[in-house]
Amino acid sequence: MLSVDQALQLVLQHTAPRPGVSVGLSDALGQVLAETVTSDIDSPPHDKSVVDGYALRAADVPSPSARLRVLEEVTAGMVPTMAVEPGTATRIMTGAPIPEGADAVVMVEQTELDADGSHVQVQAAAPRSGQNIMRRAASMSRGQTVLSPGTLMRAIELGLLAEVGRTAVRIVAQPTMAVVPTGDELVDHWQVPGPGQIRDSNGTLLINLATQAGAEAHCLRIATDDEACLRERIETGFTCDVLLLSGGVSAGVLDLVPRVLQDLGVEQVFHKVNLKPGKPLWFGLRRGTPTTRQTLVFGLPGNPVSSLVCFELFVRPAIQKLSGLAPTGLPRSTAILTKDHPQRGERQTFWPAAVGDGDVTPLPWKGSGDLATLSGANCLAHFPPVERLFKAGETIEVLHLP
Ligand code: AMP
Ligand code: MG
Repeated sequence: MLSVDQALQLVLQHTAPRPGVSVGLSDALGQVLAETVTSDIDSPPHDKSVVDGYALRAADVPSPSARLRVLEEVTAGMVPTMAVEPGTATRIMTGAPIPEGADAVVMVEQTELDADGSHVQVQAAAPRSGQNIMRRAASMSRGQTVLSPGTLMRAIELGLLAEVGRTAVRIVAQPTMAVVPTGDELVDHWQVPGPGQIRDSNGTLLINLATQAGAEAHCLRIATDDEACLRERIETGFTCDVLLLSGGVSAGVLDLVPRVLQDLGVEQVFHKVNLKPGKPLWFGLRRGTPTTRQTLVFGLPGNPVSSLVCFELFVRPAIQKLSGLAPTGLPRSTAILTKDHPQRGERQTFWPAAVGDGDVTPLPWKGSGDLATLSGANCLAHFPPVERLFKAGETIEVLHLP
């Protein structure tokens, strides 16, 4: 059986980033850049003052006191009209261009202006040449690359795009996903289950995981364990980049999903991973044509926690890669076990747990159908595929849940 790493490599081998599309800046937040962005300006466009004060010649203030004649006042948006000569200074505001001849700015707090405004007494220790001046192009110069493809567009990057005059930007098209819960026993979550029935929780779980991971996800109606119904839902799902089916991939008599997928031309890449929970995972590819897109198809095991673990290990990295991001999956770290934990069986195990300040406590989880206990979890504790008792104090890997 494939290991988790082998299965993930196969998923990623079949996943390519979506093409780039142009959008207005107001639609780019949270998206991934698909182009190289260069600056059309020097920033700042001129040597500028970073304080309110007096622009002067540093050499004019050799000791902590000097009296200088005030030439003019320059506020941000204005341009100086006079050069600063020996013995003179220009009143200057933050952001305003440094007048010719000046090489330092002394903060207004370190000066005293005469009552008639004609002269200023500077009380600063000898200013350094360049003091309180931001040089032209210190932040970026015209033609310089300021953002590279693959960058996640946060408010900061959008501000930078505005600074370089962009109104539109090419981003990686957001991946789309359809979710199909399958099972004769399922009813919609707004219904009261009858005898033998349960509510569909995976539909809601999976579309929200996918939305958080950056996909545009929607849930199709529940499919019954019936070939015609499965065919209809699956064909609808082919309009998306990713199709997630939940349930129907194990060894039960009504586990029809792998067969129906193959009948519809989805090429199986693998079925079953040496993983707990989530062993029955099925993955395949529906190849695109010049008029249809390629669809990654995941058959997730029906139990909610198995579905979640498979999503985090395989579907999240696929969404990241489709989105133009590095397919790193959940953030990982190490932590120290607070109590003994028996690892049973020889499957790689991801156990719901609570991670705190460097330590991790496995929760009293009742198995793959127990979603309620997961509500107290903020991570999955990772145990390697060896049967043994992990002792309190041992260091293990944890995957941080979003
Ligand atoms: P299956 O993978 O179809 O054999 O289902 C495994 C288990 O998960 C069964 O107990 C199902 O009732 C349960 N299950 C399947 N689909 C869902 C779902 N959408 N929501 C909650 N539980 C489910
Ligand atoms: Mg089923």
